[in-house]
Amino acid sequence: MAVQRTFSIIKPDATARNLTGAINAIIEKAGLRIVAQKRIRMTREQAETFYAVHKARPFFGELVDFMISAPVVVQVLEGENAIAKYRDVMGATDPSKAAEGTIRKAHAKSIGENSVHGSDAPETAVIEIAQFFSGNEIVG
Ligand code: GDP
Repeated sequence: MAVQRTFSIIKPDATARNLTGAINAIIEKAGLRIVAQKRIRMTREQAETFYAVHKARPFFGELVDFMISAPVVVQVLEGENAIAKYRDVMGATDPSKAAEGTIRKAHAKSIGENSVHGSDAPETAVIEIAQFFSGNEIVG
């Protein structure tokens, strides 16, 4: 399996509870390298663009409001099979269904406020990384 990059967000519910370091520790323990990272306040336009695929869903407005409610930490993670590996490390979208040892099991508050985002495929990883990082901000 090749080395891949994936895009991660530590979401507002987690930054608000000072969990950036705790989540990064789980990421690094899983063998993923944080090769870019910055703490930002997402604009409404950035959040709407980022989650455009969910525009028709009933929770879209709530999701956008949540993502701009507090700072987020955007990251690029690198490693063998990084996209699927990080999805495993994150756990299920609904924390009540997330496996033991996952970030969402340990820290998520609800299906909406679920602490982390990770890309779901190589194509989306490329698009999501480019939305927040230029090439020279990623140092592998
Ligand atoms: P993910 O890939 O596991 O993050 O899940 P999805 O792509 O299905 O959903 C994207 C994000 O939308 C989730 O991580 C949640 O933050 C949010 N979301 C999904 N389902 C719901 C829901 O039923 N209610 C609310 N409020 N938010 C949701």
